[in-house]
Amino acid sequence: MVSERVDFIGESATLKMAAKVKAMVNNGIDVIDLSVGEPDFPTPDNIKAAAKVAIDKNFTKYTQTAGIPQLKNAIIKKLKEENGLEYTAKQIVVSCGAKHSLYNVCMSLIDEGDEVIVPAPFWVSYPEMVTLAEGRVLIVPTREEDGFKITPRALSAAITPKTKALILNNPSNPTGAGYTIEQLEELAKVILEENIYVIADEIYEKLIYEDFKFSSFASLGSDIKDKTIVINGVSKAYSMTGWRIGFAAGPLDVMNGVSKIQSHSTSNPSSVSQMAALEAFGGPQYEISRMVSEFQKRRNYILQRLRSIPDVSVNTPEGAFYVFPNFSKYYNKEYEGMQIRNSHGLTYYLLKHAHVATTAGADFGSDDFIRMSYANSLENITIAMDRLVEAISKLKTPSKVRRIHLNNTITTVKQKTNIELIDIPTRDDLVSQSEENLTHDSYYEWNANINGVIVQLRTNIEHLYNFWMENWYPAQLETDIEPHGIIYALGNIKGKEPHSYYNTETKTGIIHNTDYYKTLRNLAVSLVTDVSQIMLDLYCIRGMSIDMNGKGALLVGPKGTKKTEHFYGLMQMNEAKLHAAEFMIVRHSTRKAIADNPERKTFIPTNMAHIYPPLFDLFERSKCENVNISKEDCRNKECLLDDNCDIEKGSPFCFKGNKKSSVLFDPYWIGGPAKHIKRTSINWIFLLTSTGAPIAKMETDEMLHKFETSFSDKVGTETDNIFYNPYLIIKTPERIQMQRRFFRQLIENSICHTVNSGGRPFNEVQGILRDTIAKT
Ligand code: PMP
Repeated sequence: MVSERVDFIGESATLKMAAKVKAMVNNGIDVIDLSVGEPDFPTPDNIKAAAKVAIDKNFTKYTQTAGIPQLKNAIIKKLKEENGLEYTAKQIVVSCGAKHSLYNVCMSLIDEGDEVIVPAPFWVSYPEMVTLAEGRVLIVPTREEDGFKITPRALSAAITPKTKALILNNPSNPTGAGYTIEQLEELAKVILEENIYVIADEIYEKLIYEDFKFSSFASLGSDIKDKTIVINGVSKAYSMTGWRIGFAAGPLDVMNGVSKIQSHSTSNPSSVSQMAALEAFGGPQYEISRMVSEFQKRRNYILQRLRSIPDVSVNTPEGAFYVFPNFSKYYNKEYEGMQIRNSHGLTYYLLKHAHVATTAGADFGSDDFIRMSYANSLENITIAMDRLVEAISKLKTPSKVRRIHLNNTITTVKQKTNIELIDIPTRDDLVSQSEENLTHDSYYEWNANINGVIVQLRTNIEHLYNFWMENWYPAQLETDIEPHGIIYALGNIKGKEPHSYYNTETKTGIIHNTDYYKTLRNLAVSLVTDVSQIMLDLYCIRGMSIDMNGKGALLVGPKGTKKTEHFYGLMQMNEAKLHAAEFMIVRHSTRKAIADNPERKTFIPTNMAHIYPPLFDLFERSKCENVNISKEDCRNKECLLDDNCDIEKGSPFCFKGNKKSSVLFDPYWIGGPAKHIKRTSINWIFLLTSTGAPIAKMETDEMLHKFETSFSDKVGTETDNIFYNPYLIIKTPERIQMQRRFFRQLIENSICHTVNSGGRPFNEVQGILRDTIAKT
């Protein structure tokens, strides 16, 4: 299990696009890449030569943590001569790229809960770095009309007592916006009044065009210099992205922190690269002006082409090598049925249809735009613009706009919790705590009839109440009705982890601090399993069942046996009706096992729609929980690898991006009574495995043993899950004995097979299952 820290950050969006382009190019597709964030020029020869000398002179050992003194001196000289800034050597730390400098500064400056203001559009790594440092990111949008620059008023309004710093990128990636000295002075006034820090990322300082004059933020005065950490490096100006040299300069206490952090993480930056950087700062500078004049030509060309496209606006960037045009007037248009809904959809469309790679503005916090890098040859840019203009001209307003409003709830805790068995004093304690939190303004109560077992829910979470009501049939509305069991599901219990408890003597369930419906449903089904077994002589099976002309086929199997795929595979048969997609309650009449599905609706993970596509439309009109609506939340690495992201293709949501994404849908919607039935008798049992013979008929004792031990060959992870039933929470010897009796009866009255479904091709297994059902 990875740390929560990692779960909260996304992968770098720009690097993901680069991977996609690489995959297309490997398939022989001629993609023009305007998504790149590095100059397309080689590192100048004098710099390469300096590195070669360093290697030959064996300058290949550890250096001082914060950088070699010669390089620091060159940086001090650069800052003094070019920016008018005086720093001592201790105030400078050289790191492995400006990105690394920024990261170290965030770690040195930010405490848990500190707020950091990040104007949007922003460079993708700023919010993630602040989050990694446990700070809170406060995104402040800027306006295209203001040249994407944060105004003093917007800055002031965003500052709170918890604000620690502003990250100011000048000139900016992705917009190219450069601040004039007057604009910086206005911001500096606010900074000084409010006494916050500025992390000034000036990595694009030298890549500026026409008469734009760059001013370093720290140079506005000694008081502002004390609050500023300047970030710069050699990556962009000297075309040295791969060498990994950047630096930070700032107040001594912050820089001491940076140095300490670096000493325990990367030690020093590469010795050879430091010698190369020394040559970059100290050697001839004319390569920069050559590069700038080439960039300027390309910028002007791209701007002129973009401005000829109807309904596109684009600001003239003062620096960096990106343009950031506004394409939002093209959202909702479509080409061959593919509708563009957002910047991800547009970049996907451009990649697929124009073979031009760009980056979605949403990744930089501004969905109306896309970023195009002109770090590519003018020749390539010309072809790319031809293709882009043509692809854009094909986008038409659709005749019918299909709007989908997904009925989705994002829950704060998406993990189901294990159920802990508790004694009566603990129950009493927890119940009284729960009752205290059920105030009249947030109290919901409802009795559900779960196959004859009446379970009352008392909750202060409206979402759980809504799901509960939809999922179960109501119990009769009699005032003197005594529920068989009660569940308290409480949010906002201070100081408690998300947790589920159950006391079997009083049939009381308690849930603290999770609003994930699966947790509540699990506890309810466990309570019903407990009550059914001892009071009603019924038992609960966790498995999937399909009815074929009044007879049921039960599929049971651990993870890895492709149970769900085979279940929905069988559903494709004409006579097949869905009976239960997860669990059922069974009782025996003389010679039959009668299985009931007690749920009004079916609660399943939404990724099943990809196995049985008729479900797609049904899900769109169902209650959903935790369906991904943003690419950042995607946890499905395969989609990203296969270049198959629904959201990127313009869908407003994705059913497969998150395993915790669930739906409560009405199985009758699949095809009415022809495709769904509430009761069946179990005729066939298929115990699915991942090893062994394709199919083997099983005698009663052998089958019973397999059920009870959940496979001795230890397939999957549920081996200690006796009878494959996580809802069987009371496992005393008497209960197991009862379970054994039930299962013996079930097995004696059914045709039982094990089927190796996990280790064999899908079609073969489907053939075996269908044949067995047809023949017996
Ligand atoms: N800041 C900004 C705004 C950038 O665009 C980049 C590179 N994409 C960096 C910092 C990182 O530079 P380096 O390669 O030196 O880590």
